[in-house]
Amino acid sequence: MTGSAIVQLAYLASAVLFIFGLRELSHPDTARRGNALASLGMLLAIVTTLVGQEILSFTWIIVGGLAGGLTGLYLARTVEMTEMPQMVAVFNGFGGGASALVAGAEYLKILGFGVGASAAGAGGAGALSALPVDTGVSIMAGTLIGAVTFSGSWVAFAKLQGHLDQPVTYPLQQTSNLAILLAAVAASVLLVAAPPADAALVYLGLAAVALLLGVLVVIPIGGADMPVVVALLNSYSGLAASAAGFVLTNMALIISGALVGASGLILTAIMCRAMNRSLANVLFGAFGGGGGPATGAAETGERSVAEIDAENLAMMMAYARQVVIVPGYGLAVAQAQHAVKELAMNLTERGVTVKFAIHPVAGRMPGHMNVLLAEADVPYDMLFEPEDVNPEMPNTDVALVVGANDVVNPSARDEADSPIAGMPIVEVDRAEHSVVIKRSLSTGFAGIDNPLFYKDNNRMFFGDAAKKIPELVQELKEV
Ligand code: NDP
Repeated sequence: MTGSAIVQLAYLASAVLFIFGLRELSHPDTARRGNALASLGMLLAIVTTLVGQEILSFTWIIVGGLAGGLTGLYLARTVEMTEMPQMVAVFNGFGGGASALVAGAEYLKILGFGVGASAAGAGGAGALSALPVDTGVSIMAGTLIGAVTFSGSWVAFAKLQGHLDQPVTYPLQQTSNLAILLAAVAASVLLVAAPPADAALVYLGLAAVALLLGVLVVIPIGGADMPVVVALLNSYSGLAASAAGFVLTNMALIISGALVGASGLILTAIMCRAMNRSLANVLFGAFGGGGGPATGAAETGERSVAEIDAENLAMMMAYARQVVIVPGYGLAVAQAQHAVKELAMNLTERGVTVKFAIHPVAGRMPGHMNVLLAEADVPYDMLFEPEDVNPEMPNTDVALVVGANDVVNPSARDEADSPIAGMPIVEVDRAEHSVVIKRSLSTGFAGIDNPLFYKDNNRMFFGDAAKKIPELVQELKEV
């Protein structure tokens, strides 16, 4: 067998490991094994590339590996769990940026710049003939998608970090974005089919325009739609990597990029369904304020809320038949997952049926609540989707909301003009009693007031979930 056949076989094996890894990741029970399989696939792909391909300089690979590895290690150790979505956004951006750089390096090499440049375009000017279509299309796709992903991801980062609270809209926004996209595609066709004398300059201009486009397409997207945007950018980063794979004729990169692209698209569809919105509506709808701790009528004192203390709440829960716990972003902030598990176990031991209602967009990243509760070893059979638990709400004695807000906001169901109208919610207001644990009446990520707090059957248990849940568990032990 030739060396090249061995390399291709090793890449194929790594692709198979990726696919099985993804398959196992689809269920919490097998997710760890899935992660290990996919990591093994990646290790195999890296080793194969290093030993089997033409590596220009191991020095640069080691320098790059150390720089990336140490940065990754630092981030992984210091980033708070609540900042994971920002980290995912940045990772997507780096993925897109890296693919654009690969495409750019290859194009400039073809033009005659740098190490390994082809003779065809020596000096970068003049006599360059048309590029082969497959190479040209791959380079331009990698550049456009990669650059859009890079800059778009940084805007998503800024939104998630709360630096860019409101959607930025202006007249003819979508039309002008479309015009910029068409101009970029036209320039790409020109650079492939009939490269002009100053092709390098035009190419760099194209990359700059693609970066601008990434910013322009993400700024109008409302804060409430960030789950969809992050998933979509993840998919783009995969497509850009796949394009880079075609540029380098690297099968592992083509396949793994395609897998990321496809799974990102599936996740985008799941997120759209979770918010009951179409992708077009997300991209062009400027939906929800998002980000900061805006205050609504809630804090002006126009309406009143009823409070409950730990002792009374413990009594209410101890004698309940069924309790539904709805975790949200605040649970992650408070890192109260272990305390919540203790609460659930205490109730279960008393014969109370306890269910966790997990909204798909609760928290700040897909699967956020599942990850947190898995960390605390909450049994998977206690976790339910909103559509499974909502029909049981009228028979639920207590719905306990822990640091969630938007995902239990009844205005999504009841008010057609609400910025989150149509988003499915966990209908805690239909339980006999709902109790909300949060520190104040301030809004959640979407920046809108929550009528739940003022309902007659709702009680507020104000405070940091990190303190309030242990307080409640303590009271329960005394009941
Ligand atoms: P929300 O952001 O709506 O609300 C979280 C609430 O937690 C806040 O109102 C806050 O109130 C409370 N809180 C914060 N810290 C604490 C604490 N230490 N103890 C107790 N409460 C606390 O969260 P949800 O989970 O309900 O909704 C998620 C939102 O995030 C949705 O709008 C979703 O679209 C968006 N999003 C989701 C992503 C995803 O992939 N899942 C990605 C990006 C955005 P207070 O300050 O009063 O304590």
